[in-house]
Amino acid sequence: MIQDEVMKIKSELPADVCLMAVSKTRSRAEVEAAWQAGIHVFGENKVQELKEKAHENDPFEWHMIGHLQTNKVKDAVRLTSLIHSVDSLHLLAAIDKEAAKQNKCMPVLLQINFANEETKSGFTVEEAPLALELAQRFANIKVKGIMTIGAHSEDEALIRKSFQQAHDFYTTYQKKYQLDTLSMGMSNDYPLALEYGTTLIRVGSKIFGERQYNQ
Ligand SMILES: *Cc1c(COP(=O)(O)O)cnc(C)c1O
Repeated sequence: MIQDEVMKIKSELPADVCLMAVSKTRSRAEVEAAWQAGIHVFGENKVQELKEKAHENDPFEWHMIGHLQTNKVKDAVRLTSLIHSVDSLHLLAAIDKEAAKQNKCMPVLLQINFANEETKSGFTVEEAPLALELAQRFANIKVKGIMTIGAHSEDEALIRKSFQQAHDFYTTYQKKYQLDTLSMGMSNDYPLALEYGTTLIRVGSKIFGERQYNQ
């Protein structure tokens, strides 16, 4: 089942778009099944769960996609190859400090709340340009691009609007800061995200089935 879904989604993607499998709430066995189906990147939103699931020398990458508290930065820097969810300068500073300790230059994305929803974390559209500028000053951080979550709405026009804004922001700064990653699109809206130039889609339930949180 996992294999069929991965193959189906991959067949719809341009070759340069990365398919991340979002494995939160899913077992290590399910991660390995997805890896065998050709997934190279897994996303988790909680450091504790990541620590339990990741093994040393995994032949695939782990990315952090959930809100990160500064006291969890150490493990996130140690276990992941990209943090998508950087939503404050305070967090950037903490990641920089930890990356220096671990002798690493940590790749990150700035999460930007283009949908402008109070329930979402991320820099506001107004804050984002300065955050991107200031992020360049940290010696042990490399900002690779931006991450956004599409508008939470049944109205396709609203989702399109948030993706269009993300696309415009990304292309405005892409050259100046040598960005290569626009992380947007999930199970329900990735076909739209593809229209707006996403380079990495984060797909959970469409690969693994609906999540059950109450177990
Ligand atoms: C859970 C999650 C996803 C995947 O959601 P699905 O709807 O299951 O595809 C993608 N991005 C983030 C940030 C998430 O927390």
